[in-house]
Amino acid sequence: MFNELINFFNDLIYFIKYVIKGSEFLLNSVDKRLGFVIIFIFGSIFGSFINVLIYRLPLEMDFVFKGSFCPKCGVPIKWYHNIPIFSYIFLKGRCYYCKQPISIQYPIVEFISGIIFGLLYLKFGITWDFFVLCMFYIISVPVIVIDFKYQIIPNELTIGGTIIGLFFALLKSLLSFQLDSSISLGFLDSLLAIIVNVILFLIIYYVSFGVYKKEGLGFGDVKLAATIGAFLGLYPSLVSFFFSFLFGSVLGLIIMFVNKIINYKKVNLLRKYVFSSIDYLSAISVVYVVNTDIDKKNSVYIAFGPFMILGAWSSIFLTNFIIDILFGDYLLF
Ligand SMILES: [Zn+2]
Repeated sequence: MFNELINFFNDLIYFIKYVIKGSEFLLNSVDKRLGFVIIFIFGSIFGSFINVLIYRLPLEMDFVFKGSFCPKCGVPIKWYHNIPIFSYIFLKGRCYYCKQPISIQYPIVEFISGIIFGLLYLKFGITWDFFVLCMFYIISVPVIVIDFKYQIIPNELTIGGTIIGLFFALLKSLLSFQLDSSISLGFLDSLLAIIVNVILFLIIYYVSFGVYKKEGLGFGDVKLAATIGAFLGLYPSLVSFFFSFLFGSVLGLIIMFVNKIINYKKVNLLRKYVFSSIDYLSAISVVYVVNTDIDKKNSVYIAFGPFMILGAWSSIFLTNFIIDILFGDYLLF
């Protein structure tokens, strides 16, 4: 029994190895522009899946086996009406059956996902880091949108994401001798990161609860800290929290400032302002103000999940950049 399990695992590792090697060979040897187009198509298909997650997870609907359907009339969507980006254009943004408008969010998420996958491919090629970051991206976008809209982060994303991240780290440990990778050091690193981050965020959770007598963070944020740890490993995830709190407090200050100028009773005025505003940053902060429950003490709740995700991606791409600026080569001369 135990031997069979080990054999199965060995086969699995060889299979994964050949999938990676095969796609590496195919896509790293073709022209980068052609590769980008191919990866863009894959990315937009995953973008379509991300839309499914965004819609279904908060409603606690099956997101694996249940086929696509129109959220307005419930009619199942034919595959040729479900082609990323193109179907939205051909159907002129309306359901084929009930003619109700389809949210512009669908083609936007599909397009952005295609672009992000393509950019990750250009930067990393078909490598382990590419697969890990694509996976992390698939978790990132629903966390941002759902936490922003509903102020919750579904367990499927946080606990599910932690398990997936840890599984990737385990595979990395097992495959490490043949992988060229810089993200997460492997299984033990990820496991340590999960434990440390959960303890750290629980401390923040209870301290802020003790000081402010209300939730400063949600439990979703604690679980998300574990997910980020599982994917990035200990040190980069700690760096990511630094970025998160930095971004979060900057927006918090902007919100307090906006709040001071514009009395919170004039929320409806704010709504008009959002749609007429071209200033993106103030628009985002105003949306946050409108979207948040402002209690009688005039304090606001800021969904922190989006900042944690933003911090994680900043940690991935900016850490070396900042270290270069601070301790870069040119300082040696
Ligand atoms: Zn419909």
